Amino acid sequence: MTTTVGILGGGQLARMLALSGAPLGLRFLAMDTEPDACAGQFAPLLVGDYRDERALAEFAAAVDVATFDFENVPAESAHWLAERVPVFPNPHALSVAQDRLVEKTLFRNLGIPVGAFAAVDSRAQLDAEVARIGGACILKTRRLGYDGKGQFRIRSEADLDAAWQALGGQAQTVGLIVEAFIPFERELSVVAVRGRDGEFRAWPLTENWHVDGVLSASLAPTRTDAALAEQAFGYARALAGKLDYVGVFALELFCRDGQLLANELAPRVHNSGHWTIEGAETSQFQNHLRAVLGLPLGATHMRGHACMLNWIGALPDGGAVLREAGGHWHDYGKSPRQGRKVGHATLRADSPEALARALRSVGAALGRESQVAPVLDALSGIRAG
Ligand code: AMP
Repeated sequence: MTTTVGILGGGQLARMLALSGAPLGLRFLAMDTEPDACAGQFAPLLVGDYRDERALAEFAAAVDVATFDFENVPAESAHWLAERVPVFPNPHALSVAQDRLVEKTLFRNLGIPVGAFAAVDSRAQLDAEVARIGGACILKTRRLGYDGKGQFRIRSEADLDAAWQALGGQAQTVGLIVEAFIPFERELSVVAVRGRDGEFRAWPLTENWHVDGVLSASLAPTRTDAALAEQAFGYARALAGKLDYVGVFALELFCRDGQLLANELAPRVHNSGHWTIEGAETSQFQNHLRAVLGLPLGATHMRGHACMLNWIGALPDGGAVLREAGGHWHDYGKSPRQGRKVGHATLRADSPEALARALRSVGAALGRESQVAPVLDALSGIRAG
């Protein structure tokens, strides 16, 4: 009997889930509000609103298990669905990850270090909390923010008016949180998977670079001492256990003075894990499907060294990537639009030197020297170390 996996959200993550599930003989049904959602090029697409019970009922009737490509599915819809079909990750885990305040409070309760933060309900509270935290801060929406959207950097008191003007209107709707700005040296992520039986596996720690709040490049493995990596994996394991999480997730971390601080939990396959498609024994997409279906998890060790470059807005010419021995091209089949993730490339090599060579050549051919520069810097650190 064929198994159909339902995916709420029909973007590139759903598309890559469907592609990785094909060898397992799986069928898919993606649900999205947009009729041109790019997963629809590979899987049947149900177009509907996540709050529409009729559409949700049609989705539930057609699938054996449901999961997400998008974390902002309304919690009530996830709960409604979970009464009719197994849903992984569970709706509680989803709702924790949907709210930055709840999520950061959980980190703190689990002993996972976080920067200072506070809820903000009013302008007076914003002023008071920024004064209490001291130094630069970031005001963020508690819910529905992603890729740096719904954020305002407060460098000094002079920015408070502008910050409130930008986001104050959302204080009573999605809620606001103010956080200390962390002058981090590096951004890292743990991409990990937990099975239905509680088995936990993580891919090697990934280093990430963002531009304007959007991921630009990821590198794995990265320079980290083993103790720091173990600490990061320990945090991810504790979090997943506490939430009874099933599936793949990412824990985003800042590293400052050799210390880790948690930023956020993404309750789904994650952009910083795209390199696992070619760079790891089992990809995050395949392991997510194995987890939600209760199948044995695949090994997460690396095949050499991998770097992922994100294509934002429009795709460059793929030739330079395809010419590399370890070059892999991913076109999400989306129309170009400013700020939109339209594809990525992964370069894989057996040594840091070979990866650096490939990156230099792709960077130069595409005029993307500034995108690859921080990765080359990190790779030279790995070679020296
Ligand atoms: P987020 O949506 O919280 O993942 O934020 C997107 C990006 O903005 C992060 O990956 C960081 O590069 C930056 N950022 C977010 N919060 C902070 C913070 N508290 N301190 C410094 N940078 C931050």
